[in-house]
Amino acid sequence: MTTGAPRIVIIGGGHAGANAAASLRQAGHDGEIVMISEETVLPYHRPPLSKAYLKGGSTLESLYLRPAKFYETNNIETLLDARATGIDTERKVVTLADGREVGWELLILATGSVARRLDGPGADLAGVHVLRDIRDAEALHARIVDGARLVIIGAGYIGLEVAASARDLGAEVTILEREPRILSRVACEELSGFFHRFHAGRGVVFRTGVSVAGLHGEDGEVRSVELSDGEILPADVVLVGIGGSPCDALAIDAGLHCDNGVIVDLAGQTSTKGIYAIGDMTRRPMPHYGDRMFRLESVPNAVDQAKAVAADIMGKPLPTPDLPWFWSDQYELKLQIAGVPFDADRQIVRHTPDKENSFSIFHMSGDRIVAVEAVNALGDFVAGKKLIMAGQPVDIARLSDASVAVKTLIATAAD
Ligand code: FAD
Repeated sequence: MTTGAPRIVIIGGGHAGANAAASLRQAGHDGEIVMISEETVLPYHRPPLSKAYLKGGSTLESLYLRPAKFYETNNIETLLDARATGIDTERKVVTLADGREVGWELLILATGSVARRLDGPGADLAGVHVLRDIRDAEALHARIVDGARLVIIGAGYIGLEVAASARDLGAEVTILEREPRILSRVACEELSGFFHRFHAGRGVVFRTGVSVAGLHGEDGEVRSVELSDGEILPADVVLVGIGGSPCDALAIDAGLHCDNGVIVDLAGQTSTKGIYAIGDMTRRPMPHYGDRMFRLESVPNAVDQAKAVAADIMGKPLPTPDLPWFWSDQYELKLQIAGVPFDADRQIVRHTPDKENSFSIFHMSGDRIVAVEAVNALGDFVAGKKLIMAGQPVDIARLSDASVAVKTLIATAAD
């Protein structure tokens, strides 16, 4: 193609990379787009890997972000099963593991994050899993059978989602957490207490404030987990869910400014002109939170940054950055969180009248909402997010009254 538009190469075919390609076409880019992905399948929705897909409830095709035809129709060249191993910023080429070189005029890095692994005795035994991609989900699914003893190390969202799926599949689940409470880094005490009780009610056993000394096996297969006090817990399968690290080795080698993720501005521009980075691998500003930089691991963030990069490349105004937001599905619970409770001085908890397991927690700084955590309370989440975005003061008495719909506060605040 010789349109004069730059040839754009994207490394990574996940939520960020695939959305960048689509957003570029939507924004009118008519130059070449090449998407390099080390995975063997087209870009797919990652969240179901710990939920419906893990339970065996969906097909691979149903996970695709877009059908194969989309890439064809939009002339997006997808190089699958192709791992980028180096970036030459002088010659503007990406080297692939098989030795091929792919030239670029603009480069977008979208390599996501990698699941942290245990280091220590037994970490390499068969039956010890992480969950990041579709192969991980399939391998884990094969092990989680009725009656299997699953030990999950780490009580973050992925650990809890897998626990819920595994209980539905009939496995016995024990969750080990080093901190005194579950979800300690990502949810307030009230919320983590709720999830603890709910999972326990479904038969999940929690061990908080414990650490793992090592894993033991027989014939190369994991058989038990040893805690640091010497206690041995039998295990047929172990999931290590201790968080992720930015997949930024290529960027570091290429000399880009990285500090727990590739540092980017609101347009996704890195410290090297002509190279952008988006998604889990980045640390980005968030105008709602002053000078703080964030590394967010969420689909909305990846999509948001993909749109911003496309706009910047096409010389269009940047879209207004969204708030950090996230969701998690466990059993019949849908949790939605928006905002970050920096500077919060109190919480307001609202229980939806006449609806079990439906409530929201508003984190307040004075009379402004700075974050909302909502369980089975979509209306509270949507209205709360709007109020945070607007930075509007709210009537505390009305917000505290669960019979008053939160959306009516928006109207009140706008009056
Ligand atoms: P990814 O989607 O991880 O894509 C990165 C891609 O780059 C991968 O395909 C990777 O293989 C590829 N890659 C890496 N290095 C190279 C290389 N050198 N060469 C070529 N390709 C490379 N978020 C939510 O908001 N809600 C949820 O409920 C939720 N649930 C989740 C459940 C699970 C099990 C997981 C793993 C994540 C979940 N997330 C959820 C997080 C969300 O999926 C990520 O934030 C999102 O996928 C980030 O998009 P990304 O494109 O930055 O990274």
